[in-house]
Amino acid sequence: MKSIPVRRSSRKVAIGHGWVGGDAPVMVQSMTNTDTADIGGTAQQVFDLAKAGSEVVRITVNTVEAAAAVPHIRDRLDARGCNVPLVGDFHFNGHRLLAEHPACAEALAKYRINPGNVGRGARRDEQFATMIETACRYRKPVRIGVNWGSLDQELLARLMDDNARLAQPLAPDAVMREALVVSALESAAKAEELGLPGDAIVLSCKVSGVQDLIAVYRDIARRCDYPLHLGLTEAGMGSKGIVASCAAMGVLLQEGIGDTIRISLTPEPNGDRTREVIVAQELLQTMGLRSFAPLVISCPGCGRTTSTYFQELAASIQSFLREQMPRWRGHYPGVEDMHVAVMGCVVNGPGESRQANIGISLPGSGERPVAPVYINGTHAVTLKGDRIAEEFQAIVERYVEDNFGRQAAVVE
Ligand code: SF4
Repeated sequence: MKSIPVRRSSRKVAIGHGWVGGDAPVMVQSMTNTDTADIGGTAQQVFDLAKAGSEVVRITVNTVEAAAAVPHIRDRLDARGCNVPLVGDFHFNGHRLLAEHPACAEALAKYRINPGNVGRGARRDEQFATMIETACRYRKPVRIGVNWGSLDQELLARLMDDNARLAQPLAPDAVMREALVVSALESAAKAEELGLPGDAIVLSCKVSGVQDLIAVYRDIARRCDYPLHLGLTEAGMGSKGIVASCAAMGVLLQEGIGDTIRISLTPEPNGDRTREVIVAQELLQTMGLRSFAPLVISCPGCGRTTSTYFQELAASIQSFLREQMPRWRGHYPGVEDMHVAVMGCVVNGPGESRQANIGISLPGSGERPVAPVYINGTHAVTLKGDRIAEEFQAIVERYVEDNFGRQAAVVE
């Protein structure tokens, strides 16, 4: 594990049984896309996200039916032994839903309030106060989550007017960025005035552009010490969403900015929602900030790879390792730091395999059809025939039992 950059937030916020901020590890979050009123469907998706590694799951609470469903979703998760904290996402009517559904207010571990969607004019302050007072009454933390797409228009107009009076006015996009930060900071100050403790506040300022996100978070990190939730909003689909999110968040995390992250991917139709959790974990793990599951190091393949066998083996080992993690986590502490190499030929295969805990170098074109396996840097065995994949998987399992089981026995 590499050294973690100095963390910015000095405050630490309790969420469920975990912590965000301070010296706590960067937390992985996700959000459901089910209708929250569908108790069974939402409970199942929360369960799947938590099983994939999401440490907090946000759910939309947008209607009376959704608010009424929340405590039942909590009960179903508890009955399955899943204690992942649920965060309620409120817009427009959150003040009413929280006031009229005390069981919902109680079942949630945190409330997300978007200052741009709390209300207009005088009602805005009143409705914001109702939500904060509910958080105080139930001792719940709050994320003040500002979003580029729903920025407080009254605040923006005020800052635009102030800017116009300057001798050297800023560009409109700089004023927009300032408005995001000011909206979060002013709302946090107001929440504290209303009695919410400073260590019950997390802030976020999400935008959809990579450079904007970096600029906004650098700025807010400089101006406050609340824990920050990081995420590129509306990141997009597939590789574009992943690349944009990781480009922006990688820069910020490297600077010690960000206490909790979400990768907001648009899923493919019927796609797996848990992908956003895996990507968030892989971002943190490849940066050396946290470990979640053994990493597979595999080469891209080239003209020396003779078939798809090499890709298939890399993919099957990768899914095998992830599938084992729920069981391994409890039995084999430290296994999440293991590196497994699956390489396509003799050019870099033996070298890379020796660097990993365990590695296999498959035969490339023109090579003898044998696959040497390296364990802890030493050639251990050579596999051949048509059962290389199964045999290699068995070797990996044995390696885990032999090298991490002993630690488990000591711990137990
Ligand atoms: S290790 Fe061999 S197969 Fe893999 S990319 Fe390098 S040369 Fe190609």
